[in-house]
Parts: sequence; C-alpha cells; structure tokens
Amino acid sequence: MKEVDCISCKQEIPLTDPFVKFECPVCGELIARCDKCRTFGHPYKCKCGFEGP
Ligand SMILES: [Zn+2]
Ligand SMILES: [Zn+2]
Repeated sequence: MKEVDCISCKQEIPLTDPFVKFECPVCGELIARCDKCRTFGHPYKCKCGFEGP
C-alpha cells in the first residue's frame, strides 16, 4: 500500500491514521498533512513555493 508523507513534518502518515489531503491551490500538487500538524496549524510549503497555514 502506498504511504503518504506529511508536508509539514515530513513523516510518513500511516493510512490508518486520520489525515487531510488536498490540492495545492497554485500547482494542483496533492498535499497531505497529518492530523497533528493540522491540529497545531504547522506551516507547510509546497514544492512550487506556495506556503500555507
Ligand atoms: Zn505532520
Ligand atoms: Zn504547489
């Protein structure tokens, strides 16, 4: 099974854990964020340079 990496903490997110997945509003790249980073509002940066809260 494919695993996803959290864009904020770079940790692998087990697919059994809760996490959010969305597309970068700029380049459409799929961004995944673990529940922890989402809860704490850690910043993230897409490879296109887009930064979000
Ligand atoms: Zn994370
Ligand atoms: Zn992007």
